[in-house]
Amino acid sequence: MAEALRAVKGMNDLLPPDSARWEWLEDTVRSVMRRHGYLNIRTPIVEPTALFVRGLGEVTDIVEKEMYSFEDSLNGDRLTLRPEGTAGVVRAVVEHSLLHEGGRRLYYTGAMFRHERPQKGRYRQFHQIGVEVLGFPGPDVDAEVILLSRALWHALGLCEGSDLRLELNSLGQADERQAHRAALIQHFEAQAERLDDDAKRRLHSNPLRILDSKNPAMQALIDSAPQLMDFLGEASRAHLDAVRRVLDAAGVSYRLNPRLVRGMDYYNLTVFEWVTDRLGAQGTVCGGGRYDGLVEQLGGKPAPGVGWGLGMERLLLLLEELGLQPPRAVPDAYAIVPSTEALAPAMVAIDALRSAGVSVLMHPAGKDGPASMKAQFKKADASGARVALVFGADELAQGMVAVKPLRGEGQGAAPGAGPQAAQVLRPLADPQAWATELLPS
Ligand code: ATP
Ligand code: MG
Repeated sequence: MAEALRAVKGMNDLLPPDSARWEWLEDTVRSVMRRHGYLNIRTPIVEPTALFVRGLGEVTDIVEKEMYSFEDSLNGDRLTLRPEGTAGVVRAVVEHSLLHEGGRRLYYTGAMFRHERPQKGRYRQFHQIGVEVLGFPGPDVDAEVILLSRALWHALGLCEGSDLRLELNSLGQADERQAHRAALIQHFEAQAERLDDDAKRRLHSNPLRILDSKNPAMQALIDSAPQLMDFLGEASRAHLDAVRRVLDAAGVSYRLNPRLVRGMDYYNLTVFEWVTDRLGAQGTVCGGGRYDGLVEQLGGKPAPGVGWGLGMERLLLLLEELGLQPPRAVPDAYAIVPSTEALAPAMVAIDALRSAGVSVLMHPAGKDGPASMKAQFKKADASGARVALVFGADELAQGMVAVKPLRGEGQGAAPGAGPQAAQVLRPLADPQAWATELLPS
C-alpha cells in the first residue's frame, strides 16, 4: 500500500457529524446578518503581499512572523494567503468603487492563514466571520456592530456578560497616539533592561505594539505604562461616550480596558474584544474596531470604516464547552426498499417527496442487491426518522407504499417503543397528495 498522506500541520479537516455544528453557526450568521441588512462579500484567499504589509502595518505580529507568503513561480509576483479579512474587503471596495453611492454594510466568512504554533483554539488555517461597515463616520455604527455581535451570541444561546465579556477602549486619532507614543518610548527607555527582544526591536518603530505583548514577564512594565486614554482630545472622548451611551441603554455590559490595543495598525477610536475565560490563553473570540484611515491608505478616496472579526473555531469550542449545539438533524422518513424490482418506482416516489420538501433517507443497496428487511428497519430506527416508507412487493402490487410510524406516541418514547399507530397505505403514483403528512407538525 502506498504511504498515506496527511493534512498540513495546523490545518484541519471538518468532518461529519462536527460539520453540522459549522453549518448551524453559518445558518445562524446568515439569518442574523439578513436581519441587520448586511450583505455578503467574497474576496480571494490569495492577495498581493503588499496589501497586508501596507494595510496591517510592517511592525505587527502578523506581518513580521505569521504570513504564508510566496513567490508565484510563473511570474515572480509576491503573494500571501490572507491572514485576516479586512484588508481584502477594503481592497475590493476600493477596486470596485462600492462606496460611490454611499456607505456599505458587508459581512464575510472564510479561511484565514497564519503561521502560528498550533494548539487548542489556535491553528494555521482557521476561519473567521467578519463584518465591515464602510462610509459611516458616526459612533452609532460602532455600537451597531457590537449589538450585532451580541445578537449573534443570543441566537446561538450564549449569554453575553457571563459566557462572553466585552472589553472596550479608544485608540484616539493619529496625533493623540503620537503624543502617547512619545510618552511610551520614554517609559520603556527608562527601563530598557526589562524589555524582551520583540519589545526592544519595536521600541522606536512601533511602541504601541509592545502593549499587545503576550509575554507574562513584560506585563508589570506594560501595566505601569502611560495610558492612551489620558491623551485623548475632546472629539475622541465624545465619540467613545456616544458609543457607551448606546451600549448602556441597550444593557450591554462592558469593561473599559485602557490596555486593549489590538494587533493591527489600522485601528483608531473605538476598539473592542469579546473574551471568555473558558478557552485558556485563546480567550479572545471576537475583536474589532474603527479603521478610518485604511481606505485611503489602500488607495481609495478617504472613507471611514468599522468592523470586527471572530474566530469560528474558538466560538464553536466555547459553544461545545457550554453544551450548546444544534438540534439533531433527523430525516422525516426512511425508505425501505426490499427488492431490486422495487428500486425504480421507489426512487421516483422518493424523488417526488423530496421535491415536496420531505427529507428522505434511502437504504443503499449492496453489491448483491438490497439488504434484509431486518437490517433496513434497524437503520431506519437508528436514523431518528418518524416513519418508514416500505416499498414491499405486496404494496407495490396494489400501486401503494406503506407508511409505518417508527416512534411511539407521546413524549420521550424510545425508538420503536409502542403503542404505535398502525401503518397506512398511500398511492405510489401521487406522492404530492400525501407528502405533507410526513412533514413535522
Ligand atoms: P490572538 O491574540 O489570540 O492571537 P489576534 O488578536 O491575533 O488573536 P485577530 O487578528 O483580532 O486575532 O482575529 C480575530 C479573531 O480570529 C480572534 O479573536 C480569534 O478568535 C481568531 N483567531 C486569530 N488567530 C487565530 C488562529 N491562529 N487560530 C484560530 N483562531 C484565530
Ligand atoms: Mg494573533
